[in-house]
Amino acid sequence: IKRVFTFGGGEADGNASMKTLLGGKGANLAEMSSIGLSVPAGFTVTTETCKAFHENGAKLPDGCWEEMLAGLEQIETRMGSKLGDPSNPLLLSVRSGAAVSMPGMMDTVLNLGLNDVVVEGLAEKAGEKFAFDSYRRFLDMYGDVVMGVEHALFEREIASLKRECGVVNDNDLNAVQLRELVKRYERVYETAGVTFPQEPLEQMRLAAYAVFDSWNSDRAKKYMAINGIVGLEGTAVNVQAMVFGNMGDTSGTGVCFTRNPSTGENLLYGEYLVNAQGEDVVAGIRTPEDILTMKNALPEAYDDLVRNTQLLEKHYKDMQDIEFTVQEGKLYMLQTRSGKRTGAGAVKIAVDLVEAGMIDRATAVTLVEPTHVDQLLHPQFKDEAGYAADVIGVGLPASPGAAVGQVVFDTPTAEDLHARGKKCILVRVETSPEDVGGMNAAEGILTARGGMTSHAAVVARGWGKTCVSGCSELVVDEENRWLSLGGVKLHEGDWLSLNGTTGEVIRGEAELAPPAIGGDLDVFMSWVDEFRTLRVLANADTPEDATTARVNGAEGVGLVRTEHMFFGTGERIRTVRRMIMATLTSDRQAALDDLLPFQRGDFDGIFRAMDGMPVTIRLLDPPLHEFLPDGELDEIVALLAADTGADEDEVVERIEKLAEINPMLGFRGCRLAITYPEIGRMQARAIFEAACAAQKDGVVVKPDIMVPLVGTVAELQNQTRMIREIAATVFEETGVTVEYRVGTMIEIPRAALLSDQIAGEGGAEFFSFGTNDLTQMTFGYSRDDVSKFLPTYLEKGILKHDPFQVLDQEGVGSLIEMSVNKGRGANPNLKVGICGEHGGDPASVEFFHEKGLDYVSCSPFRVPIARLAAAQAAL
Ligand code: ADP
Ligand code: MG
Ligand code: MG
Repeated sequence: IKRVFTFGGGEADGNASMKTLLGGKGANLAEMSSIGLSVPAGFTVTTETCKAFHENGAKLPDGCWEEMLAGLEQIETRMGSKLGDPSNPLLLSVRSGAAVSMPGMMDTVLNLGLNDVVVEGLAEKAGEKFAFDSYRRFLDMYGDVVMGVEHALFEREIASLKRECGVVNDNDLNAVQLRELVKRYERVYETAGVTFPQEPLEQMRLAAYAVFDSWNSDRAKKYMAINGIVGLEGTAVNVQAMVFGNMGDTSGTGVCFTRNPSTGENLLYGEYLVNAQGEDVVAGIRTPEDILTMKNALPEAYDDLVRNTQLLEKHYKDMQDIEFTVQEGKLYMLQTRSGKRTGAGAVKIAVDLVEAGMIDRATAVTLVEPTHVDQLLHPQFKDEAGYAADVIGVGLPASPGAAVGQVVFDTPTAEDLHARGKKCILVRVETSPEDVGGMNAAEGILTARGGMTSHAAVVARGWGKTCVSGCSELVVDEENRWLSLGGVKLHEGDWLSLNGTTGEVIRGEAELAPPAIGGDLDVFMSWVDEFRTLRVLANADTPEDATTARVNGAEGVGLVRTEHMFFGTGERIRTVRRMIMATLTSDRQAALDDLLPFQRGDFDGIFRAMDGMPVTIRLLDPPLHEFLPDGELDEIVALLAADTGADEDEVVERIEKLAEINPMLGFRGCRLAITYPEIGRMQARAIFEAACAAQKDGVVVKPDIMVPLVGTVAELQNQTRMIREIAATVFEETGVTVEYRVGTMIEIPRAALLSDQIAGEGGAEFFSFGTNDLTQMTFGYSRDDVSKFLPTYLEKGILKHDPFQVLDQEGVGSLIEMSVNKGRGANPNLKVGICGEHGGDPASVEFFHEKGLDYVSCSPFRVPIARLAAAQAAL
């Protein structure tokens, strides 16, 4: 097998399509070389070699070294100089580069090939100051990267020498002083008990080893874990002739983007340093200047650079991030790759490239990532680096965005501030359904407990509201109204900022920038819809949610959680509590009669907002005790007694009856309406009365009624019979007939296993996979308790992802696949969709597309993300 690929002199063994084997850097260096750009000659050792190296006990595989020597000979021929030859020395850079770009995560060594003899030859040829500047840079980098001598030890020497010489900048040191610095650097090696290899070939061999080793460094591993990068072989090693930006004032080095990566504006964007080497720019040793200053300083090289950037952008058909060096007025290209960009930048660039005729719409759709769209839909912080000193803690990034407001600790205060036009951050130990009002009123939510699928997080995402949850260091004293975090104590009314994208908690008012929804996004999203086949619906519980969903492009409502309507005003929740506390059917019926108009009103609003589109309504799902108030038992009892008119003993008795050991597997879902048929009947009546009234007014209503938590055919049959009876009654009463469907959630594994029965004799007209519960029951992980062990599981690699966020395709996915096939086998017209958190997760959306589902339903704010993911899955 070929392990070494050379490039230079207008030729190359490899090309841009070989990223897997050559790494991104190596593949693009080859490509740039063969399209005729001036790239210093070099060779790339493959990523496969890295894998072999590690499997081989940190040794190069047989024959590899000889291939590298042959590659070196090519470089020497192309450059007309020789490694280790004092009269005409070749110097090398040894650079890492994996298939996926991981900026700065692995190692690079520059100026390799210098030693005590070669440096004198270089000094004679190219000047003493330049030669010793290169040598001291090499000793420092080589020590740090290859020999394990800390960079800080070299830093200390250069700092004290500069002090002694009274100079400020590194490049103000003169030749004599640099000679002295080299002596001191050599003493750093001695003190560390390490021998610096004088032999250039030995330097090259050890540098290549170090680059391979950096594949396993902690930072590289962490970066890959955070970014979900899996399945790479290793890093390539690029050995390349050095070109020198540190040869005086006609030399320099820089980095530029072909367009502005923050805004997408079509203008060269970058930075430049005169008389410097690459790492000076990146590591911030000197403050670089705007790329425009290069126009005056080095006009010819600048013109060349502009020409090259335009050529590269046309060639790669995407915005490029480019590294270059100018040596004595001549430009060299050192790297190009697709540039990382913000959401706003991504959308503008995609649209502009289409308008310039450079790419087609399908390609544009692949250039924007779902997370880019996500970013665009939330307000942003103006300057994330600017608030670093004020970060007092970090929690889970539960719902993205930026929020700034005054700290409050309870719902009434939040609602009060909101009503007075003020912004607040709701801080709670954890949230309960009772907090929904406060959450709605707040700009953002911070909790000490709860994971990414906690109540607060789910609701916040549904509203596009910033949320940081599970901030375990956070101490909250709700009663005395203070919090403490990171050694800072804040009281009610103090300002706090939350970054829901990173999980950072920031004291004070960080500055915000509005979400950048503009014309470009609309244009782009219309292209997205040209390509997707999967429909995107939204989970919406209120007419306002439904309207937001529609504005964001939803094609219907895939989930109305009827219980969310119960929380609303104080009167509603009191009526619900009367219903729950009732021990006599007649009392329960009386309470339900009072609830009916509330429910009917909400359904009416949703039908009208979704005119012409399907609305999927789920009957009551959560266990009844979730509607009881929070707090100390005696307070609850007193409140309930006052609310319902029962005496306290009765209340206590009823609460004891309602309490469950394991509510998630308890008295919930269709089990409620089967046990208390009057509950289901009230809900069905509210739906049909609203539907008939809306239809009478000319609204096109398409209700789909969904029975939750079905595990057996008989359960579904029981509920279907009830729903159809009520429908017939209401149609007769109103003289209006509405078309509707009855279907079920598939969220209990048994229902998935027996989907042929559910769709067959069960008569389900549609399935909606409730992937939250289906995941919970398939894994046997309680969604509310998973945060106790999930972090450990992720850390130890027992799970790759949180299965409540990214669908477990292997397990839960195969249940879904089986259920779809069995269900459609029994009823070819069966409509199949999903309505869980996963409906808005791009990787999961791709899976649902592949398995032939008809639609996904997600929170209104994630609709554009799901639309994009669905289009990308179809392309
Ligand atoms: P990273 O992946 O961290 O960006 P690179 O391999 O790109 O690492 O190297 C960092 C910097 O070193 C480059 O931006 C460039 O300025 C400098 N550099 C790399 N190779 C050479 C070379 N052959 N000649 C001059 N400078 C180089
Ligand atoms: Mg680089
Ligand atoms: Mg469920």
